[in-house]
Amino acid sequence: MILVVLLGVWLWRKNRADDRKEMAAKPRRKDAAPVGTPQIMVSCAVCGVHLPQNDAVLGKSKHYCSLAHRKQQEP
Ligand SMILES: [Zn+2]
Repeated sequence: MILVVLLGVWLWRKNRADDRKEMAAKPRRKDAAPVGTPQIMVSCAVCGVHLPQNDAVLGKSKHYCSLAHRKQQEP
């Protein structure tokens, strides 16, 4: 009887260990993809803050963090 319980516990622990190995390996690869995706960073010509190019306000030849800073530099 005890052997059956021990076998059950052993199997349960083995499965949990396998799950943890998969959890540790898989999500990291999934998470790594967006982080590793190259994103062009630009800096605001007024305040110098760095932001992704997609979020930046494009001026005549420079990038800005906001419309206010673009107006300030390019009235
Ligand atoms: Zn700015």
